[in-house]
Amino acid sequence: MDVGIVGAGIAGLAAAIGLRRAGHNVEIFEKSNFKREIGAAILLTPNGNRVIRRWGFDFHKARPVDFKQFRFVRVETLQIALRTSFEDVEERFGERMCAYHRVDLHSGLREVAEKVGVKIRLGAEVVEVWPEEGEVELRGGEKVKKDFWVLADGCHTGFVSKIAQEHIPSVKIGKSVYRWLAPFDKVIEHPGAAILWNNEGAGFCTFFNEKGVTMVTYPCRGGELLNCAVFHDTRPEERDKEDWDSDTTHEKVLEAMEGFHEAVRNIPMTADQMKVYTVTQRPPSTRIYRGKMLCIGDATHHMLPTHAQGACSALEDAGALEILFAASNFTYSPANLEKRLNLYQQLRLPRSATTQILSSTNPRFTMEGLAKKTDEIRKFYQGELVDWPMGVTSWSEPIRDFFYGYDVFKEAEKAMEYAEVGALPQGWKWFGDVKERGRMEWAMKT
Ligand SMILES: Cc1cc2nc3c(=O)[nH]c(=O)nc-3n(C[C@H](O)[C@H](O)[C@H](O)COP(=O)(O)OP(=O)(O)OC[C@H]3O[C@@H](n4cnc5c(N)ncnc54)[C@H](O)[C@@H]3O)c2cc1C
Repeated sequence: MDVGIVGAGIAGLAAAIGLRRAGHNVEIFEKSNFKREIGAAILLTPNGNRVIRRWGFDFHKARPVDFKQFRFVRVETLQIALRTSFEDVEERFGERMCAYHRVDLHSGLREVAEKVGVKIRLGAEVVEVWPEEGEVELRGGEKVKKDFWVLADGCHTGFVSKIAQEHIPSVKIGKSVYRWLAPFDKVIEHPGAAILWNNEGAGFCTFFNEKGVTMVTYPCRGGELLNCAVFHDTRPEERDKEDWDSDTTHEKVLEAMEGFHEAVRNIPMTADQMKVYTVTQRPPSTRIYRGKMLCIGDATHHMLPTHAQGACSALEDAGALEILFAASNFTYSPANLEKRLNLYQQLRLPRSATTQILSSTNPRFTMEGLAKKTDEIRKFYQGELVDWPMGVTSWSEPIRDFFYGYDVFKEAEKAMEYAEVGALPQGWKWFGDVKERGRMEWAMKT
């Protein structure tokens, strides 16, 4: 089968690797020239790392930092209000939980893609798509036809509404983020900061105050850099800055950090560049494929970063494509494609939509609890839901058990048993084996 992919972000590269490994010819169309590096880090939890490990991703070269803990710190006094250990994550889920510099993760994926024979066309922007015909138009007028297209054009997608045939609005949540990468050795030159990080396992050190400002920090690139993000109420001049790459000033960042301990206020001063962007999210699409086109990644499940599941979900999408479209089990014809895409949607949509909806249950960002969200989730997912106890945070055991144990390859293999019928049976256990321990033990502890 000849496959075209729109976008070479994490989702597009990963889908290309999955489909190439499945035995298809794959060509990516990426509008940029890969010149723009995004200076930020990204955490992959075990469900995401499990996918790239199978593909021979070079972890050694990418130098991710393993997370051992989460700390929630009062920003005026530097008192630790909450500490959660991740020490058992790798043993429990059989995979790492680690943070990458985005450029290192992206470069590593690109290397794998090129090794398996994916073609990448840079500077090729898709401006129009015709799902039923399997045809797209590039800027400049060239038309390209393929047997199957994967649309992975990110959260600003121009095409998801064409696939879902409904308007799926991008919603601002009223928060913006100042972000930067600081040289870690410079950060801990400040004696107050040294006390915070010396002799502590790597991971999140998240500061908060009562005004609702949250500063998330964690190391990446072998511990050389500290990734910093200050979530604050959007200022009028930031409303339209939905791109990741808008500049801002140290003065603005320090204004948002008013009242923060001196050791924390010093952190932005160790970095040259400050960036700002305004946080958005979308509701899930009820339909993710049409004709010969499928939407994956942020194009279809753009979520808040509260549980670090956006890229992990994109990697799961790609893992599912590899199994469901394995050439050994799939002969291309438009009818077979339709049947297999239907199976894909039944496997992926309940999980990605639930993840997307749960991403907005963090009260510090949206003030919406799970109770409000359950009805919404039930439109997509009928299986077991974790019983979110009061006080649960994004990183508590029940949440980890819900997300991290998921093995998309195993679940897709199970779904393939229904490939002939083209639909999963009623009562299918969408999340695989949601682990029980976290919920029970966590509830007993609290
Ligand atoms: C602050 C923040 C923190 C996050 N932290 C985490 C985390 O810790 N863990 C995690 O798993 N996720 C995290 N995420 C989410 C994660 O970054 C995204 O889910 C992921 O990067 C989405 O990848 P994508 O490939 O779908 O989209 P993108 O990365 O946006 O890629 C889309 C690509 O398509 C190209 N493109 C767009 N339009 C066209 C077109 N018309 N023609 C051709 N090419 C096109 C673009 O140039 C781009 O290269 C975070 C997100 C944010 C905002």
